[in-house]
Amino acid sequence: MLTIGVDIGGTKVAAGVVDEDGKILQETLRPTAADRPDVVAETVADVVRELSAGRDVEAVGVGAAGFIDETRSIVRFAPNLAWREEPLQKKISGLVGLPVVVENDANAMAWGETRFGAGRGQTHVICITVGTGIGGGLVFDGKLFRGRWGMAAELGHMQVVPDGRPCGCGNNGCWEQYASGNALVHDARYLADVQPHRARILLGVAEGKIEGEQVTEAARKGDEASLRAFANIADWLGQGMADLAAVLDPGCFIIGGGVSRAADLFIDRARETFAARLTGRGHRPVAEVRLAELGPWAGVAGAADLARQR
Ligand SMILES: [Zn+2]
Repeated sequence: MLTIGVDIGGTKVAAGVVDEDGKILQETLRPTAADRPDVVAETVADVVRELSAGRDVEAVGVGAAGFIDETRSIVRFAPNLAWREEPLQKKISGLVGLPVVVENDANAMAWGETRFGAGRGQTHVICITVGTGIGGGLVFDGKLFRGRWGMAAELGHMQVVPDGRPCGCGNNGCWEQYASGNALVHDARYLADVQPHRARILLGVAEGKIEGEQVTEAARKGDEASLRAFANIADWLGQGMADLAAVLDPGCFIIGGGVSRAADLFIDRARETFAARLTGRGHRPVAEVRLAELGPWAGVAGAADLARQR
């Protein structure tokens, strides 16, 4: 039986028809009207109609970038979309006439990677999505762990520095302010400003605008400041994974998200820091740190599979 997976991000809606093995048979992309909640539901319905034409589709799974309630139907709040207590499940289901399951996008991605990607065969997985911020998903005992209210796995908002850098969530010192793409850019800009002699390559490639892409390019060319910025996020990632392992004892971590495309610049150091800070080190197995395999389509495959298991 086929299901449709939909991934609603801040700028685009990605969707696909997915079979039982997680294979995406057909896919489509649309821009998101981030400020118009009703239009987003309409867009999802359009996409579902397009993908289900001539096919026997059983259900729809939707991954959305927001806080989803424990019944997997209401988006309580979405930082990048105009949703407040949005009954997304009901709206989409009413429009398409199929069963719909709504899930947090990072949870859907974690599920997709565990079922069909880097976590295949694993029962205890912590998925860390390193993009502009940090998202997370937890799979324990072979099941997605949602917490009591559906709000679990907001890994990026663990406070790692008391009174540290301000975060979009309203708190200070959150992990994502030190270990994400935004942190990388923050550190590279700061170093280029205070130690420009170490950032000559970066300043050359950036032409006045330092973003993640420029930091990555400069780091690959040996720029000292850019390499330092990557080392910083690697250390923060490693420390964060050690803390998570102290609480949750996973069999493996999966690192995904946009920043993982530059994994060659930080993953080895992140693994080393993780192993060096792990509590009980030397007397316990060390969880593997793997890279995500499914790329941006993990969320689509995961949401589709969650709809199948509803
Ligand atoms: Zn935060």
